[in-house]
Amino acid sequence: MEEYPRSLAEFEAWFDTEQACRDYLFRLRWPGGFRCPRCAGAHFWPVRSVLMQCQACGHQTSVTAGTIFQDTRKPLVDWFRAMYWLASQKNGASALGLQRVLGLGSYKTAWTWLHKVRRAMVRPGRERLNGIVEVDETYLGGLEEGVRGRQTERKSLIAIAAQEDGAGIGRIRMKRIADASADSLMPFLAETVEPGSTIHTDGWLGYLPTEKKGYVHRVTFLKGQKESASELMPRVHRIASLLKRWILGTHQGAISHEHLEFYLDEFTFRFNRRRSRNRGKLFYRLVQQAVVVEPAPYKSLVRCAAAAADANHNR
Ligand SMILES: [Zn+2]
Repeated sequence: MEEYPRSLAEFEAWFDTEQACRDYLFRLRWPGGFRCPRCAGAHFWPVRSVLMQCQACGHQTSVTAGTIFQDTRKPLVDWFRAMYWLASQKNGASALGLQRVLGLGSYKTAWTWLHKVRRAMVRPGRERLNGIVEVDETYLGGLEEGVRGRQTERKSLIAIAAQEDGAGIGRIRMKRIADASADSLMPFLAETVEPGSTIHTDGWLGYLPTEKKGYVHRVTFLKGQKESASELMPRVHRIASLLKRWILGTHQGAISHEHLEFYLDEFTFRFNRRRSRNRGKLFYRLVQQAVVVEPAPYKSLVRCAAAAADANHNR
C-alpha cells in the first residue's frame, strides 16, 4: 500500500517528530516486517529508542543503517523536509535553493544533501526499457563543434535512450560515456534496454554490433535526406534539448562534469515521473529508494562540495 502525504499540510502534520520519520522509514524499508540485515531474522529487541537487536544473532541495526541517512548528525525531520521540497520542485532544485528553504548554515551542507538524495533517484535493479527505443548521443557543455564521439576537456558525451510511446516519449535512460565507440555504446544498450527490443539509431559505426547483441536494429541514414536529425529521431533530440535547458535554467549551467551522473539521474527521475500529479507520491518514491540505496561515498562528495562551494563563491 502506498502511504504518502497528499498535501504540504499533511506532510507537516505527519512528519513533525524524529519518531514519526523513523516509523515511516521502518515501514518503507521493511514492508513485510523487520528483517535482520545479517541473518534475516524477523524478531528484535528495541535498544534505546533507535536501535534494534536481532533476537537470533544479536546484531544491532537501525532503520537508517546502510541507507543514505547513515551517520547523519542532522534530524530526520530536516532530511524529510529536504526530500519533500526536492520532490515538489517541478524543475529540480539547486543547492542554493535548498540552503534558503531549510535555513541551512552552509552551502556545502546543502550541496552534500542534494547529492546524497540524488543517489536515491535511481532504484537499484530497475527494469530496462523495451519495445522500440531511440538511441543517440549528445554533447553537454562547450560550444565548439568537434569530431563526433570524442569527449573533450570541456564537453561530456551523453548517451540517451528514449522509449517510444505512440508518437510520444515513454521512459528514458541517460549515461555519461567515454566516447561513441561500440565499446562504450554496446554496454550502455545492455544496461538500459531489454534484449529483443528494437533499437532505432542513425548510421553511426558505433551502433554496428547492435544486432549481434540481441536487438532488432532499425537504422535511419540521415545523409541525403531532407529531414533534419531532430525529425528523424525526435524523442532523443527532444530529451537532449530539455536536458540542456534544465541545466541552464535550474543550475545556471554551473555543474561539474565530474558529477554529471547525479544530474542526469535527477533529470531522468523527474522526466520518467512527469505525469505523476501528486508531489507526495514523488516524495514517497524518493524515501522508498533512499532506504535501499547504499550510503554515499562521503569522502568523494566532500571533496567536490568544497569545489562547488568555491565555484558558487566566485559566481
Ligand atoms: Zn540477525
